[in-house]
Amino acid sequence: MNFSIPSYPDLQYGSVYCIGRNYVEHIHEMKSEKTTDPVVFLKPRSSIIHDGDTITIPERSNNVHHEIELVILIGKKVKDISPEHAASAIRGFGVGIDVTARDIQSDAKSKGLPWSLAKGFDTFAPVGNLLPFEGTVDLQNLKLQLKVNGKVRQDDSTAKMIFPVDELISYLSYNFTLYPGDLIFTGTPKGVSKLSSGDQIEATLDNNLSTLAVHVE
Ligand code: MG
Repeated sequence: MNFSIPSYPDLQYGSVYCIGRNYVEHIHEMKSEKTTDPVVFLKPRSSIIHDGDTITIPERSNNVHHEIELVILIGKKVKDISPEHAASAIRGFGVGIDVTARDIQSDAKSKGLPWSLAKGFDTFAPVGNLLPFEGTVDLQNLKLQLKVNGKVRQDDSTAKMIFPVDELISYLSYNFTLYPGDLIFTGTPKGVSKLSSGDQIEATLDNNLSTLAVHVE
C-alpha cells in the first residue's frame, strides 16, 4: 500500500491518533461523560482515504456515522513538548472525517472492550487537503461544516474544543513519541448521524480552506 501524503512527498503517513469527547455538545448527544484528560484512540493508517474516494460500509455494521474533525499533520519528532511549544511540531492542517461504526462501538463500550474495530475499518479515515501550517492561522477559530447529499449535518467551530490543539499535542507527546507524518484527529462537534449507501459527503474547513468530498457505498 502507498502511504505517501499528498503535497508532502518527503513524508509518509505514520500513526493516526484520534481524540474523543472533545466538544461538550457531542458528549451530550452521545450521553457520555466529560473526562479530566483527553480520550485517545488510534486508527490504522490503512483506514486513510482521500478526496474523491469511497467509504465502504462494513457488512457487519448497520449504523455508520460521520464525525467531521480538524486534522493535524505532525512535522517533527517530539517527546513531552509543552503546550507553549506544541505549535512548532505542526506541519499541516486540514479537514477529516472520523468514520465510526456506532453499533460496534456501543457494543464494545457496553462490554468494557476497546473500540478499535469500530473506528479502524478500511476507508474509515478520509482526509482532505492538508495546508502548510505557518503559525498565522488560529486553529481554535476554524469553521467545520459537513453536508450529506447537500444538507448540512454538522456546522460548528473549533473554538468549542475542550482541549485545544496545543494541549492535545502536549498530552499525546507526553504519552507517545510523535513522528513526522503522524496525524491527529482532534474530535468532533455535535451533529453526528447515520450514513447510507449512495450518500455523498462534503466536508469543509473554514469555507473551503480544506475540502473533502467522498461517496458512500
Ligand atoms: Mg471522532
